[in-house]
Amino acid sequence: MSRMPRKNTKPEVLLRRELHRRGMRFRVHLSTLPGKPDLALTRARLAVFIDGCFWHACPEHGTLPRNNREWWRAKLDGNVRRDRDKDSALQDLGWHPLHVWEHTPVTQAADEIQGLWRHYVTHMPPAKPSVD
Ligand SMILES: [Zn+2]
Repeated sequence: MSRMPRKNTKPEVLLRRELHRRGMRFRVHLSTLPGKPDLALTRARLAVFIDGCFWHACPEHGTLPRNNREWWRAKLDGNVRRDRDKDSALQDLGWHPLHVWEHTPVTQAADEIQGLWRHYVTHMPPAKPSVD
């Protein structure tokens, strides 16, 4: 099925390339963090998720399939709820979760990440246990 979530989607690859071009370094799908963020910028403790418009119910492009509507609604609501749970688990560890829609233009997403990275690196709270 073409809508299955998968790793290394095109928006993800393009964003990684753009961040790399800007000299930013990150870990990919770091499994020691809740939710295995798509990108983890360890110095800033910034955890980035590139959310698919369908699976994460984007307000602009999220749609419900015509068949089994109620099942899909429950399924997608569950995804959104799990996203929030992962975010609070990350925050408990002193990380900053950031969700980027897959429809966001790559330079805009990279600007946002870079801006937050700078902010968090310069306003870093006292050290917490590392996950590396
Ligand atoms: Zn969207």
